[in-house]
Amino acid sequence: MIRKTRLFTPGPTPLLPAAQFAMAAADMHHRTPEFRALFQKVLAQLKVFAGTKNDVLLLSCSGTGAMEASVSNLTSPGDRVLVLTAGKFGERWTALAKAFGCEADVVSAPYGETFDLDEVKKALKPEHRVVYMQATETSTAVRHDVEAIAKIVTATDALLVVDGITGLGTTHLDVDGWGIDVLIGGSQKAVMIPPGLAYLSVSERAWAAMEKSKNPRYYFDLRKERKNAAKGESAYTPAVALIAGLGAALDYIAGQAGGDLEKGRIALIDNAQVNAEATRAGLVALGFTLFAPTAPAAAATAVAVPEGMDSGAVVKALKAKFALVTANGQGEMQGKIFRVAHLGFFDYLDTVAFLGAMEHIAKDTLGLPVEYGQGVAAAQKVYAKAVNSAQ
Ligand SMILES: *Cc1c(COP(=O)(O)O)cnc(C)c1O
Repeated sequence: MIRKTRLFTPGPTPLLPAAQFAMAAADMHHRTPEFRALFQKVLAQLKVFAGTKNDVLLLSCSGTGAMEASVSNLTSPGDRVLVLTAGKFGERWTALAKAFGCEADVVSAPYGETFDLDEVKKALKPEHRVVYMQATETSTAVRHDVEAIAKIVTATDALLVVDGITGLGTTHLDVDGWGIDVLIGGSQKAVMIPPGLAYLSVSERAWAAMEKSKNPRYYFDLRKERKNAAKGESAYTPAVALIAGLGAALDYIAGQAGGDLEKGRIALIDNAQVNAEATRAGLVALGFTLFAPTAPAAAATAVAVPEGMDSGAVVKALKAKFALVTANGQGEMQGKIFRVAHLGFFDYLDTVAFLGAMEHIAKDTLGLPVEYGQGVAAAQKVYAKAVNSAQ
């Protein structure tokens, strides 16, 4: 039988056809009025998508490049920073801070859980220059309470940097209202285009901190990018085709709410949340255990396989039988969990298809006592309730 390849990974995510066409057609030099018009349009759209009045910069790199820029531009060697970590991406903040000579204090939550707010409050000291965290920790599919943590951080002088790479487009974030100084996004996540672009919003307080930073930077000198962006250009040759694709994707997201990008962003978040909830319900109905039951992200769902079984076998079987690509656990979680994504260009029928495939895998690969339709029916109930309550 024909098997269509389907990405269900939390980055890269499925590509939007309209963005693919725009990328293929982007035969353009970057020092021309045509590009400047495109770049300015996309930067303005990104501000709305990120939900902020702050500057938004666009960098040609993967998400980690923007994470690095928010360490190298905001700190000096010897600075004390606080890292909140609950998984592989939180651990990346610690490694980055150390690479740039910072003294990193760490508050950690066990894999599959979020932070204890009292612990964060206690750990945050007046010496901390910056607090680094994720909005959603993709390695465990946990959503963190950015609003509550922002309340703690804004009571001090520390800057708050949030890796929203899978949080953007999947969870509500009020950058200006909550006081998020830097919010980072990446192209291969909710915005439905290939890897290669990162974007970040930067507050006035963060711009001021950059003037004092003594860390080395060249390609990722955000001040230089800001100056060039004001003229409608980037400092170096940008990923022109990806930027054209991003513009088309943001148009599509706006199109979900009659052309209003702010409302379209909310519709995209609701879409991820309903698909995530339906997926969780379906998997639980099939007898799986959720890895992050207390604070599940809408970006992705992490699923634990029954004791003694290998999550890699599920990932392999989904690929072999249905060309459906999911992600194994990272690091120590490899073999114990697998992850299925909901961020970006996924619809309800994708969720039904995934659960239908999981019923076969549960029965045939794992030998679980599953009836066909059991997982799908649980998801259908979630969908029906969400659609009825939205009317
Ligand atoms: C995908 C992702 C990143 C960025 O990784 P890159 O491979 O550099 O794009 C960072 N943080 C989170 C939470 C992510 O999901």
